[in-house]
Amino acid sequence: MNIILIAPPAAGKGTQAEFISKKYNLSCISTGSLLRETIANGDPFQIQKKMRDGNLISDDIIISLVREKLIDLNRFVLDGFPRNINQARLLDEIFKEVNKKIDFVIYLSLEKSLGEQRIIGRRSCPKCKKVYNIYVNELRPSNENTCDDCKESLIVREDDNKETFENRYKIYKEQTEPLIDYYRSKGVLFEIDASQDKFEIFREIEDLLGEV
Ligand code: ADP
Repeated sequence: MNIILIAPPAAGKGTQAEFISKKYNLSCISTGSLLRETIANGDPFQIQKKMRDGNLISDDIIISLVREKLIDLNRFVLDGFPRNINQARLLDEIFKEVNKKIDFVIYLSLEKSLGEQRIIGRRSCPKCKKVYNIYVNELRPSNENTCDDCKESLIVREDDNKETFENRYKIYKEQTEPLIDYYRSKGVLFEIDASQDKFEIFREIEDLLGEV
């Protein structure tokens, strides 16, 4: 089973990708995490500023990061890729070469104002990567600014501010949203309301994907 997640900023794409990969035993391929790793390893492609501003990284770099994984791994959930029509076409080509297919494209829909509130309150643990939100009851850490699990001080992601949010949302509308019709016309698109809490969203995803 191969799954793609599409969502506006802050719909909880990363969280659901993790839930799905655990329950259904799928590898999680997150382009956001892969890009943050390459930056931590010396930023050979000089993408830090682009990412900080919420702009998309070039399709060539993205494909170079995911190509091998798409070919080698079986059964995965894609978190953050494809992000535009060109990447979707490139994915189709790779899948054609290796005889794989997309089973579900899950579109997590969320209103802009809710996304903005979530982004501005987001904090994460630099050690275990757990994500919190100081404005959302069920995501608030028990002690403000400290990870519940490893007691590290929480950090604000570099691209989590109002200005970047506006840019990310604009780019989402222009480049990523067209993927919804692209996959709808292939008959693999399923929409889930992402304004619910993360467990409720996952319950709906489980209903869609079925029991293992
Ligand atoms: P979020 O889920 O909050 O939108 P991600 O972690 O998926 O954030 O992505 C963070 C940033 O990484 C994006 O704003 C963009 O700069 C870059 N990025 C991630 N995936 C892609 C992709 N497939 N193509 C181009 N840029 C990407």
